Amino acid sequence: MDENALLVLSAYSAAIVAASLLGGKLAVLGTMTHTRTQVVMSLVAGFILGIAMFHLLPHSFEHISGPDMVEKAVGWMVFGMVLMIFLLRIFHFHQHDFSSEASDLYDRRGHGGVHARSLLGIALGLGVHTATEGIALGTSVQMGPPHDGAGALAGLGVFLAILLHKPLDAYSIVGMMQSAGHSRRARTAANVGFAMLCPLVALASFWGVGLLGPEEGAVVGYALAFAAGAFLCIALSDLLPEIHFHSHDRGKLIASLLVGIGLAYALYCVESSALHGHGMETHQGP
Ligand SMILES: [Zn+2]
Ligand SMILES: [Zn+2]
Repeated sequence: MDENALLVLSAYSAAIVAASLLGGKLAVLGTMTHTRTQVVMSLVAGFILGIAMFHLLPHSFEHISGPDMVEKAVGWMVFGMVLMIFLLRIFHFHQHDFSSEASDLYDRRGHGGVHARSLLGIALGLGVHTATEGIALGTSVQMGPPHDGAGALAGLGVFLAILLHKPLDAYSIVGMMQSAGHSRRARTAANVGFAMLCPLVALASFWGVGLLGPEEGAVVGYALAFAAGAFLCIALSDLLPEIHFHSHDRGKLIASLLVGIGLAYALYCVESSALHGHGMETHQGP
């Protein structure tokens, strides 16, 4: 029964690896202007925000039962947010903008490159961040009923969010290594390692959740709520610095944010109509 889901997860993984490697390659070319980076980031952040709120959180409610299910889900979501804020505070790992126009925004660039120590922290922070994405992907694909059409849709939103966001992260780690003066070989190794991490964690959580037995449902619910919090925090961390410090291209940036949220919501509508069209009736049958 898990074979279809595993196939879907493998296809998702291959696409994520490719997108991540491509993002790292773009950093070497270095062609993104500040405005272009911000438009892309707003769109992707809007999509991630929508996936967190319309997909991850509602799906977590479906898996947690009992009278205190809302408290549990919200508690895990807050945990995901706080952990990400904590990591962002310490390691400042989520800086995507490498254009010269953005350099006034961030101290690190102003002081002539990234130090080896902060680079290690950035790698650690990005590692936890991408591991969270892997957990979200593995559990979302696992939870879908693989025997009908809706099963294919489960996890599609999470997959797309990761697929769109991953190049930005790969771009930033390779870009930072470049500004710290690392060799081409080291950058390629980091790019490949970073690309592989999310699929590996996704596969591990996919199998891990399957091994849990009766506890499976609740753990999937907690993992999804946790990922919702982490996704929300990541989306806002991409949006808020620009909102605080710049005021150019306001219309463009708000429009791309709304398009991102709109895409996530559209996917939610497609997914829920597919679920109600097929899977649900068979569940409630006599
Ligand atoms: Zn990221
Ligand atoms: Zn700006």
